[in-house]
Amino acid sequence: MTPTVDLAQITAATFADARYGIFINNEWRSAQDGKTFTVENPATGDVLMTIPDAGAADAQAAIDAAYAALPAWSALPAGQRADMLRKVAALMLERRERLATIMTLEQGKPLAEARGEITYAASFLTWFAGEAERVYGQIVPANTPNKRILVLRQPVGVCALITPWNFPAAMLTRKLGPALAAGCTAICKPAEQTPLSALELGHLFVEAGFPPGVVNIIPASNPIPFSNAIFDDERVRKISFTGSTEVGRILITNSAKTIKRMSLELGGNAPFIVFDDADLTAAVRGAITSKFRNSGQTCICANRIFVQRGIYERFAEAFTREVAGMKVGNGLLPDSNIGPLIDLPARDKVQRHVENALAHGAQLLTGGTPLPAEANPTRTFWTPTVLANASTDMLVAQEETFGPVAPLIPFDDEEQAITWANDTPFGLSAYFFTRDVSRVFRVAERLEFGIIGANDALPSTAQAPFGGVKQSGLGREGGSVGIDEYLEVKYLALGI
Ligand code: ADP
Repeated sequence: MTPTVDLAQITAATFADARYGIFINNEWRSAQDGKTFTVENPATGDVLMTIPDAGAADAQAAIDAAYAALPAWSALPAGQRADMLRKVAALMLERRERLATIMTLEQGKPLAEARGEITYAASFLTWFAGEAERVYGQIVPANTPNKRILVLRQPVGVCALITPWNFPAAMLTRKLGPALAAGCTAICKPAEQTPLSALELGHLFVEAGFPPGVVNIIPASNPIPFSNAIFDDERVRKISFTGSTEVGRILITNSAKTIKRMSLELGGNAPFIVFDDADLTAAVRGAITSKFRNSGQTCICANRIFVQRGIYERFAEAFTREVAGMKVGNGLLPDSNIGPLIDLPARDKVQRHVENALAHGAQLLTGGTPLPAEANPTRTFWTPTVLANASTDMLVAQEETFGPVAPLIPFDDEEQAITWANDTPFGLSAYFFTRDVSRVFRVAERLEFGIIGANDALPSTAQAPFGGVKQSGLGREGGSVGIDEYLEVKYLALGI
């Protein structure tokens, strides 16, 4: 029995007193040209809010504010910046239910996952509050006796932070945490589909005592005017972007104009390898978690599941049994494991991938269709799908599906698995399950990916340096190196 939840009432109550606008200098502003846009619920198609739609003039005002706030913010003792970051993290945890509900409403993910994301998002602020206090310099032995060399690390300056719709809170704090800890000021551009999660955080930054102009949030239906404004402006010194490789490529080209620092977290095509000697239960659990979190819409989702022939049948059976038991539905319903896809193009890609695999010889073990029309008002709900005997030349293996589709690809030996796993221009995350400790090192060292989960399907954490190689990006977020992306290294050669 599906528990009774009054979805309309939850939506109305969540936004009854909500006040959002273009967030500049701690004020909620209208767009200078008066434009607005709507934010919709991907599970129902209902309009959640109509909010100001920032254009070039608003982006310019945000740059002015961030630039004006920079000297005082960067001069503040690190401990004071850290205290404010911890305060926002505490507020996020205190308001977790509200933040998670807003996220589920605009993004679609199940509420339990949204709660998890808020906790995860807060952890980046806490982690970088600690790092703020450890931005050490160096004194280096000089080349002559009458010299000293001092290495200083200083904030890069005004940063533009561009985030995607799939993790609307965590992708933002993973950038804002280190930027603010380092002493930078920020202009945040949330994805057009999910600006409300970011704007709600704006309120918490005010409440935590952040001075005007340190954090600015620019909702916009079209990213281009914002993009042009930040790339043309010399005062913006750094761009951090999470999104598609295609857009990342455009941003690299645009950055040539004013030579900006860039951090890019781009697409992936993660292999998930199950060796014959794996713990079957752990591998099945891991594959479920990695593949179906956020309906398969994460850049580190397992995309190609390689299963060694000796365990293939047992894995396929146990995995399919679990997948067939998953519940698809509105993320606010407590028993939903799989919410809607973000929009119709996302759903069409899923359908194209499934049809291509079936036409090329894969077999359907479960799923393979959208939810029936009466339970699928936006047509974006797709039943979790398992495809048997997929192969590396199918679209499901060549492209990132970004949906709840698991292609199982049988393989013969370790060499073949590694070769196939690395046969992609992407290099974000890879997973493998084995009980052989020698193999753990052998395989991990040969996989050309920035993040390796060995017997671990959830490797992301604030303590670790998240990021990709090859066309998956530049730079790292999190870990002790995450703050380096927001610091310049300067040295002082001192004659004595
Ligand atoms: P996705 O495929 O996940 O939607 P995108 O790369 O299209 O990812 O978008 C990620 C973020 O980048 C969003 O905030 C979007 O508005 C922004 N974006 C898209 N195109 C550009 C661009 N040309 N310049 C700056 N930001 C952009």
